[in-house]
This record gives sequence, structure tokens and C-alpha cells, in this order.
Amino acid sequence: MKLIDLHTHTRASDGTDSPSALVEKAHAAALAALAVTDHDTLSGLEEAEETGRSLGIRVIRGCELSAGTEHGEVHILGLWLPRKAQSLQEQLVQLRRKRAERNALIVDKLRGLGLAISLEDVREVARGESVGRPHIAEVLLRKGYVKDLRQAFGDYLGSRGKAFVPKEVLEPETAVRLLAQLGATVCLAHPMLQKYPRGWLEGFIGRLAGYGLTAVEAWHSEHSEADVRACLALAKRFGLGLSGGSDYHGGNKPGICLGVGRGGLRIRLEVLEALEARRRAQGLPC
Ligand code: AMP
Ligand code: ZN
Ligand code: FE
Ligand code: FE
Repeated sequence: MKLIDLHTHTRASDGTDSPSALVEKAHAAALAALAVTDHDTLSGLEEAEETGRSLGIRVIRGCELSAGTEHGEVHILGLWLPRKAQSLQEQLVQLRRKRAERNALIVDKLRGLGLAISLEDVREVARGESVGRPHIAEVLLRKGYVKDLRQAFGDYLGSRGKAFVPKEVLEPETAVRLLAQLGATVCLAHPMLQKYPRGWLEGFIGRLAGYGLTAVEAWHSEHSEADVRACLALAKRFGLGLSGGSDYHGGNKPGICLGVGRGGLRIRLEVLEALEARRRAQGLPC
């Protein structure tokens, strides 16, 4: 059985592997294909593709965008991004600028709480262009202010933490349309990570389908079997495709391995083939 992974992060955003190391690990794990889907940046893609070509493993160009709803953030994956994606690149520049402003506010809050941390420290930890809370968490860990990343989010950076600053994000419709207009496969990431009021997710997915949403990420490291079944039903109801990925972040999400998640994830090559068939039917390149 050939396996794939369509949701992974590198140190271009908040993963800990370089793009080439990520692809080498995917190759070592005998995956047939992987999508690199960093938050708010495409800067890891070329290196990943180059390594993919030399090792003979398929690399799909992707990214992950955050969007805001009345029930918190949702994440949207764009897969099969074209090489020329100016509208997206322009939006990503804005999003990274907002990240930088937010990171500065978070650092200010932390300093106000008496923690000796600077933006310089954060820059040293973040080796890519998309910088976020996991990098700040790493600084707190290295300086001994917390015992692990979990505590960094619980005490300081999470939505109930003492230094929380909300992130300015896109409207879901804007994110979906932006990716759809580029000919990407647009996938609602890990829809079951949060519990929503009854019926809300159905309405939300139905709405986004009208803007170009093409798939639902049914298989994910944090999805239970019941979650997967719920995703399959949602996709069927709206005529959407299915995707799956581990959401691997290297050392920033301990216990999640490339391809297999916490050990039990199995995303078959057929999932990729079905998404490709859908693209061909839409006249989109694979
Ligand atoms: P940001 O995009 O800067 O808001 O950071 C969000 C990222 O932080 C997510 O993609 C997760 O990888 C990570 N994250 C969020 N909450 C937690 C948590 N409680 N513990 C560890 N990592 C988290
Ligand atoms: Zn992340
Ligand atoms: Fe996500
Ligand atoms: Fe992710």
C-alpha cells in the first residue's frame, strides 16, 4: 500500500526541518508524495521540489492560510499552487507583516510580565520568513521560563494566556477565492479540531463551496475515526473531494510523524489520485 502526506510544515514557517530534510524524511518513510504547506509563505517550496526531483518523490506545492470565523480560526490549504502566484504572494506579504506586528505586541506583553525576551531572540529562533507563536514559545523554553511548548501556550501565548494577542486573518471567503482563482485545490484543513454548534460546520462548508472550496481534509493526526466519518459525510453532501495529512511540524509538534501522524494515520495514494482526477475534470494541471 503506497502512502502520502498532504499537510506538512518546514522551518520556512513553524516546522523545525529544512525543506530538503523534510523531503528526505518523506523519502525514507517510503511516501509516494507529499505536499509542503507552510503557513503564510511559499519560500520552502523550491528547495523541497528540488530535493523531491533528486530523490524521485513527488512534491506538491502548497500553503496553509488562517481565516477567521465567529467560532475562531479555521485553516485553508491550497494544493497544487502554480509557480506564478502573484496575487497570493502579495497577500502573503501583508499577512507576514501583520504577523510581525503581532509578534512585537506579544513580546511587549511578555516584557511587561517581567520576562527578558526580545524580538532579536525570536528572530534567532525563526529561520524562515513566516514567524509565529511557536517561535516565541521556543524562546521561552530556551530561557527556562516554561518547561515545554505546551506550557508556553497555556500560560502565555494561547487564547487564555497572559500575553495573548489575536492574529489578524483573512475572511474565509477571501482565502478560498484567492486560492481557487489560482487553480489550486482548496481544502478545509482539520475541520474537526474544534467543536462547533450543531449544524454550523455544514452551513460553513456549504457557503465556502460556493467560493471554490474543493476538498475536506478528512484524515489528520488529531482526527478520530468518528471525525473521519463525519468529514466523509460532509464532503459527500457537498460534492467535495477528500484530502489527508499529518500536519507534521518536526520538533514543534512532538509525537507527530511524517506520513503516520501519531502512528495510526494511513493516507493512501488513491486519495491523491482522486484529487488529481478532480483537477483533470476541471481542466487544471497536476
Ligand atoms: P500562529 O500562527 O503564530 O498563531 O501560531 C499558531 C501555531 O501554533 C499553530 O499552527 C500550532 O502549530 C501552534 N500551536 C497553537 N496552539 C498550540 C498549543 N497549545 N501548543 C503547541 N502549539 C500550539
Ligand atoms: Zn503550524
Ligand atoms: Fe492548521
Ligand atoms: Fe498545519
